[in-house]
Amino acid sequence: MNIENMLNDEMGISPKVYEIVKNAEKRAVEYFKTAEEVAEYNQLKVLNAFRKFRISYSHFGETSGYGYDDLGRDTLDEVFADIFHTESAMVRHNIVSGTQAIALCLYAVLRPGDTLVSLVGSPYDTMEEVIGIRGEEGTGSLKDFGVNYDQVNLLPDGAVDYDGISSMLKNKKVKAVLIQRSKGYDWRKSLNVAEIGRIIETVKGISPETVCIVDNCYGEFVETVEPTDVGADLVVGSLIKNAGGSLAQSGGYIAGKEKYVELVGYRFTAPGLGKHVGASLGFNKSLYQGLFMAPHIVCQSIKTAILSACVFEDLGYDVCPKSDEIRTDIIQAIRLGTPEKVIKFCQGIQSGSPVDSHVSPVPWAMPGYEDEVIMAAGAFVQGASIELSADAPICEPYNVYMQGGIVYEASKLGIMEAAQRIIKEDK
Ligand SMILES: *Cc1c(COP(=O)(O)O)cnc(C)c1O
Repeated sequence: MNIENMLNDEMGISPKVYEIVKNAEKRAVEYFKTAEEVAEYNQLKVLNAFRKFRISYSHFGETSGYGYDDLGRDTLDEVFADIFHTESAMVRHNIVSGTQAIALCLYAVLRPGDTLVSLVGSPYDTMEEVIGIRGEEGTGSLKDFGVNYDQVNLLPDGAVDYDGISSMLKNKKVKAVLIQRSKGYDWRKSLNVAEIGRIIETVKGISPETVCIVDNCYGEFVETVEPTDVGADLVVGSLIKNAGGSLAQSGGYIAGKEKYVELVGYRFTAPGLGKHVGASLGFNKSLYQGLFMAPHIVCQSIKTAILSACVFEDLGYDVCPKSDEIRTDIIQAIRLGTPEKVIKFCQGIQSGSPVDSHVSPVPWAMPGYEDEVIMAAGAFVQGASIELSADAPICEPYNVYMQGGIVYEASKLGIMEAAQRIIKEDK
């Protein structure tokens, strides 16, 4: 068995690139330990919930039509609530994306005349049209319905502006705040759960009634605690990211205080019906199994992120977070500096993927995003970014954001393919 020969002879990875990645990995394994410990803790947390609710084959059965008494659906809600330590949860295969899940929360809680404030700068790109910061009138954005919006920006060094948050809440009646855990397409530190806790404490200290909503996308199971452990009223995320463990074929979840989750249910189906109907159509098993796999799969993707941080640090690029930083999400940003390198990087990741390895991604005008975006996603589930993927808005300073990787050993090839192209571009 000779891995280097196989990579070189059959896959076209040069001995030099192999060497670089092998050396980077020696550094990376030190940082893997924390991720593996977190995964073990979270795996027990999930397994314990499965045992507590006596999950059995009967929960995997399918319902159709109205989906009355769907045992699997209702119990999965309880299992999520148990893991997130909340009163209630709603987990649905037919929430199409994280954006829809967050939008459900906002429309559920906010009423005409209310004010929503984002506490950590501009929200994720796709939320801008939901809120009505960007886009046309008449789409049914929150702005169309008379919901006001404001934001507290991060300080120039990327830190949370606690004074700004305090004065915002003292000066205005704020119905809900949105806190985004992960940096999204931003070059800053993602917020760890402890910091989210401090933000919520600041908010509740001034305005206890303000609903604290955390966009938890990419953050689930990266730490041993979740934002609901530090006072969040609602957390929300996508099942084609962390919480679906790569097996959920689509979906989203919301967990939090019962009264708010009920409102989310009313918004999702109709007032009166709420979350107590909706056919699971045979998707329950993949949602359960995906949740069971999630801590392990998240760990695979964190190891992938750490390795790529080490490799690109060694190649002389600025990375965020740095290889030795404690993580709170699965995203690894790399500052490549030119559009050509961003494109090459994404093409490398794509070529190292199990699906569509033969296609080459190019930048396009993706709905919901302002700049052209390039996306590498050779995934089993279309667009699933818990699988190895990379994307970048084509704009200065030309950062690429990579995430996911459900099998560390395979993700390494994607990193090698990307590194090989970048080294070539450097010459
Ligand atoms: C992915 C993501 C979203 C939602 O995006 P979808 O593509 O609609 O799932 C929202 N916020 C953050 C921080 C995200 O990473």
